[in-house]
Amino acid sequence: MSPTATETVLASDGLTMDFGGFRALDDVAVSVRRGQILGLLGPNGSGKSTWINCVSGVYRPTAGRVTFNGREVTGRQPHTMYRARLGRTFQRLENFPEMTVTDNLLLAVQESHGSLLTRLMKHNERQERERARELLEFMGLTRVAEQPMRTLSYGQQKLADLAMTLMPDPDVILLDEPMAGVNPALIEELVERISTLNAQGKTFVIIEHNLKVVMDLCDWLVVLDHGVKLAEGTPGEIQNNNDVLEAYFGS
Ligand code: ADP
Ligand code: MG
Repeated sequence: MSPTATETVLASDGLTMDFGGFRALDDVAVSVRRGQILGLLGPNGSGKSTWINCVSGVYRPTAGRVTFNGREVTGRQPHTMYRARLGRTFQRLENFPEMTVTDNLLLAVQESHGSLLTRLMKHNERQERERARELLEFMGLTRVAEQPMRTLSYGQQKLADLAMTLMPDPDVILLDEPMAGVNPALIEELVERISTLNAQGKTFVIIEHNLKVVMDLCDWLVVLDHGVKLAEGTPGEIQNNNDVLEAYFGS
């Protein structure tokens, strides 16, 4: 984390999410500082993806508040959050397999424009193509830019997924298990890209089970268990926290 990164950019306060009679999140407070890479940890089913879905507008929380850049945004639509420069990936790949990688990137930015009118104006398509080209180069995907998405390996599609998320130039990026199912060589590439983007000023929240990746990348960790915030702290603190060890490996 950079020494000046003290401003809260994204926060949930009292965040609660019920699905029918089931409480997936219970009074969860998370504060993400600008410039941080915050790791969201917890066993399967602990509410991590639900937290991302609530703060990015996919789910309207049952109770609690979400603030982004100092404004309350609770229950805003996903494309509104996108335009406010909150980017996210989904746990499962969401792309168009038959379209080229470049076209997937161009489509990703169009979604963030929202209205049909802005989409029809197309005034900045050349800039968008240039941005797609740069991002694919940054991800090491230039060679496959004009191939259908489905011809890429799973790991390459994860890199493309991150490139798609970066198209509208978000300030804060929420990554839901970006490394899951990715081979070790590509994991290293993803870690390096995320570090570089963070050094350029982007803030990340990352859900990740690979503890080495978490320890290398993150400067703050929040641990969920059964929808409740169990602990938070530096990676060093969390590594030595008995409650956390219990939640992961407990009896
Ligand atoms: P994690 O990402 O930590 O593995 P999730 O946030 O996906 O966990 O899920 C937390 C709990 O909420 C799980 O028990 C899951 O079955 C439940 N859940 C998540 N989304 C829904 C939904 N749309 N409808 C019903 N239950 C859900
Ligand atoms: Mg999940």
